[in-house]
Amino acid sequence: MRNVYLDYSATTPVKEEVLKEMIPYFTEKFGNPSSLYDKGLESKDAVTHAREQVADLINAKPSEVYFTAGGTESDNWALFGTAEKLKSKGNHIITTKIEHHAILHSCAYLEKEGYEVTYLDIDKDGRISLKQLEEAITDKTILISIMLVNNEIGTVQPIKEAAAIAKKHGVLFHTDAVQGLGNVDIDVKDMGVDMMSMSSHKIYGPKGSGALYIRKGVVIDNYLHGGAQENRRRAGTENLTGIVGFGKAAELAKANFKGHVEHCSSLRNYLKDRIISEIPDTYVNGTMENRHPGNLNITFKYIEGESILLLLNQFGISVSTGSACSSTSLEPSHVLTALGVPVEMIHGTVRFTVGDFTTKEDIDYVVDNLKKIVARLREISSVNSKKGW
Ligand SMILES: *Cc1c(COP(=O)(O)O)cnc(C)c1O
Repeated sequence: MRNVYLDYSATTPVKEEVLKEMIPYFTEKFGNPSSLYDKGLESKDAVTHAREQVADLINAKPSEVYFTAGGTESDNWALFGTAEKLKSKGNHIITTKIEHHAILHSCAYLEKEGYEVTYLDIDKDGRISLKQLEEAITDKTILISIMLVNNEIGTVQPIKEAAAIAKKHGVLFHTDAVQGLGNVDIDVKDMGVDMMSMSSHKIYGPKGSGALYIRKGVVIDNYLHGGAQENRRRAGTENLTGIVGFGKAAELAKANFKGHVEHCSSLRNYLKDRIISEIPDTYVNGTMENRHPGNLNITFKYIEGESILLLLNQFGISVSTGSACSSTSLEPSHVLTALGVPVEMIHGTVRFTVGDFTTKEDIDYVVDNLKKIVARLREISSVNSKKGW
């Protein structure tokens, strides 16, 4: 049976070139980067090189890149580190209703600790209102955190404009750029952000590896306490192989950027055009402009996305409903809810994300099976639709 993976926003495979770079650091080059003999220095050099590779991808200085255990830790660090550092200044944070749970659940925790959080709405295209953002700022606001690219509907937010508003009011600005990295243009200097979260496994690097960009001069509290690693800001022996792999993945993402975006968007558009024209009662969620090049989020009316997912799986096809993190809960997606999609339509929603290894034949295979699956499920649920569903 054919295997077609259309869930690149959940995670990506490690590229051959990335794995090749990592392997020696598991075995002969295993030294602790903090050790002062040659074996340690060799590892330290590898970490330094990876820091340059990541910095290069986002136009930061290497000294502004702090390695972490992934996007979740970076998000947690930015939020808790700022909240703790600036608590004498204020207790108000602004974010959006459509953030990843790494932000939303951290905000919920901070609310229990006495912080106040404003959650910005999104419009029918999935974008925030800059006017609402500016109006939400008070003299107690210490942080604004807005994601660059949404993981469910792929919407790109106006981060440069939002960061400028934050700056005007003297408020720190963080962006979760995990889905944006390698997929949209990122230049931290041009965007004017103070902090930015990144993850390696969404850009063909290994899991459990990521980074937080912290602009020079920005001071937040440390999140992990211990040794002097990461310029005394993030303790713990470096995840050497993970960092080396992330570095290489970042280098490839920069070198392949144009080709990657063209490849993904052309296949994504082909998938969209075939689904919309060949399967009736299907809708795209979120605008097609300002969108992640590989993301397609579709509602199939009258049926459950979960059933589609399970039947596609029987044909070797991997997709997700809403976001992977909520795939085991029956809660309707918070992103689609914020977008104003009715709850019964949310339940009929599937996220397809294409990537570097997707081919046109893969898309044809998916659509051919999808047509049969949707027709079959709708036949079964026609009883429901007759009830006026
Ligand atoms: C995947 C993801 C994260 C979490 O990153 P991990 O490295 O898996 O912890 C955070 N934010 C967004 C938008 C993501 O897509």
